[in-house]
Amino acid sequence: RRDREAPFLDRPARLGDGSRIELLINVAEPEELAVLDPGHCDGIGLMRSEFLFRDGRPLPDEETQYRAYRRLLDWAGDKPVTIRTLDIGGDKPVKGLTPEGERNPFLGLRGVRLTLQRKDVFTAQLRALARAATHGNLKIMVPMITLSAELDETAVLLDQVMADLARDGVAAKRPPLGIMVEVPAVAVAPELLAKAAFFSIGSNDLTQYVMAAGRDEASVAALGDPAHPAVLRLIAHVANYGRERGISVSLCGDMASEPRHLAALIAAGLRTLSVSPASIARVKAALAEIKPI
Ligand code: PEP
Ligand code: MG
Repeated sequence: RRDREAPFLDRPARLGDGSRIELLINVAEPEELAVLDPGHCDGIGLMRSEFLFRDGRPLPDEETQYRAYRRLLDWAGDKPVTIRTLDIGGDKPVKGLTPEGERNPFLGLRGVRLTLQRKDVFTAQLRALARAATHGNLKIMVPMITLSAELDETAVLLDQVMADLARDGVAAKRPPLGIMVEVPAVAVAPELLAKAAFFSIGSNDLTQYVMAAGRDEASVAALGDPAHPAVLRLIAHVANYGRERGISVSLCGDMASEPRHLAALIAAGLRTLSVSPASIARVKAALAEIKPI
């Protein structure tokens, strides 16, 4: 099978009818890129910025973050690089940042809920991102958005950051501000977030919240099925809404890396997927077998 898939690696991703799929990658550690040819994908669809905020290490300052983000953009050249703002809390605790003793961490202070309470941390990250944006095609993605007010507050913070950088004569660019669609409230009513520059569906969290089955709970793993009709219907709803409104929609959850789910995602209307680097050839080979209706 490997031999059959390998030739797909350096071809653009296409469906069986030749239509183009935008195939991006998910990255958690910048080191992963060292062994990866940017020619094998259309860009980075999800850079998880948590690697900079390891438990037990001091918080990274603006300069450290700027250098790390810039390296990603240098790797990608002209291709888009979507960096997600800090998504800790829930399954990703960081001492000194995430609250201790939450009874339901996945329903608690995580992602943007937390960074909006730590404006010092959020501002430093947005400053580093706005500075790095001068070196490539950078987009900022905000995790765990539930209300439009959270995106508004983030946008105001980014405006403030842009004004401060301009005042100080620091080179910077305002990147588009998009959101993860991973809270059911947003997947059901995406029109409330029409201001987002783009949507990226986080099927890992969307599935756990729709199915009421914790993503780390082995005892209910069978319930956490991203191909359940309820989850797929929400994915299709968001894809349709995006198409009607001209908002680009991708999916960056783990299901996009699994060939068995691809036909359903294409049928749901998605044409942009973000997958694990190790699955690029496998996903391209599987997409080539799909005849869209
Ligand atoms: C998701 O929730 O599907 C996602 C891509 O983000 P993470 O797995 O980092 O929560
Ligand atoms: Mg998530």
